[in-house]
Amino acid sequence: MGRFDGLPIREELKSFEPYGAPQLDVPILLNVNENPYPPSEETVADIAASVAEAARGLNRYPDREFLHLRADLAAYLGRESGGRLIAEQVWAANGSNEVMLHILQAFGGPGRTALSFAPTYSMYPEYARDTNTAWVTGRRAEDFTLDQSKALAAISRHRPSVVLLASPNNPTGTALPIQVVEALAARTAAIGAVLVVDEAYAEFRRTGTPSAVTLLPSYPNLAVARTMSKAFALAGGRLGYLAASKQLVDALRIVRLPYHLSAVTQAVARAALRHSDELLGRVEQLRVERDETVDWLRSLGLRAVDSDANFVLFGTFADRHAVWQSLLDDGVLIRETGPDGWLRVSIGTGAEMAAFRASLERVLKTDIGRLT
Ligand SMILES: *Cc1c(COP(=O)(O)O)cnc(C)c1O
Repeated sequence: MGRFDGLPIREELKSFEPYGAPQLDVPILLNVNENPYPPSEETVADIAASVAEAARGLNRYPDREFLHLRADLAAYLGRESGGRLIAEQVWAANGSNEVMLHILQAFGGPGRTALSFAPTYSMYPEYARDTNTAWVTGRRAEDFTLDQSKALAAISRHRPSVVLLASPNNPTGTALPIQVVEALAARTAAIGAVLVVDEAYAEFRRTGTPSAVTLLPSYPNLAVARTMSKAFALAGGRLGYLAASKQLVDALRIVRLPYHLSAVTQAVARAALRHSDELLGRVEQLRVERDETVDWLRSLGLRAVDSDANFVLFGTFADRHAVWQSLLDDGVLIRETGPDGWLRVSIGTGAEMAAFRASLERVLKTDIGRLT
């Protein structure tokens, strides 16, 4: 008996489970790259007041174009990345996952191909599948950087209509040099394709790493995706966005569902943006804690990938699942992801990282912690 017997489910969906990291009730949550610091009571009160104001108009549909929120996001992104943007160049949806689905709905589809470079974010193939877009991947190098000439060759070979490039990449933490991003933007422009640079972790990048936002004036086929879920400490608010040319944004407006961004979401996001200094206030501390975590892992003889994000990929273990389970037995939930042998830990509070270190030290003294 199949799970979907009697239902006309699409053939290619039959073997899938709903995607997602385990949501377990344990004390130390270091598995989905959230910011571990909740908003202050003052910010909570302002968000609540904004939601109350929105609630007074909930009998009406929300503002479909949400240009106030888009203007606020444009102003924030301009400040953060040193670019200049207008509201019409910004798009938003319920998480940057939905923003990227809009991209595939507008620019992918049957007979078309989306290309990325593995290992990378595990959701990308799902957007392709859900929009009937063919999915192909090139490889990243051993150190998880991208070889520019190989990447350009993959674009020429596969002729994608969409190229997805995560920088900093998940699950490796690797940011790409802006020259590589620009070379890909130029090549995709030449073949009439869209390049999406997924900068979900951009605020955590190391000093001196420019954002792809600075390339927007030269490349109307470029989209830079961001999210309020990570550095911005608003994962529960579900607000992702992108910046691009006005033409590219106009294409996304065709495929969005009417009123896809609720009045409550708009109010929460705008209130959070008013408190961006506070919400982003721990980013510097998390970057320091990240670099210390890399150093600490290496001092134990482990491999740890340099990271521009709020997580570290480390290993390599003979049995990574057993290591993951042992940490979980201590109440520390990390993520079993990336190439075989590797594990990923999100950067938490000082106390959470101390618990992680204590647990991993214990496991490394046992047979379970064998390295390869
Ligand atoms: C977390 C993450 C996102 C953001 O997801 P949201 O839907 O905005 O919460 C996007 N891209 C990558 C690579 C991520 O890791």
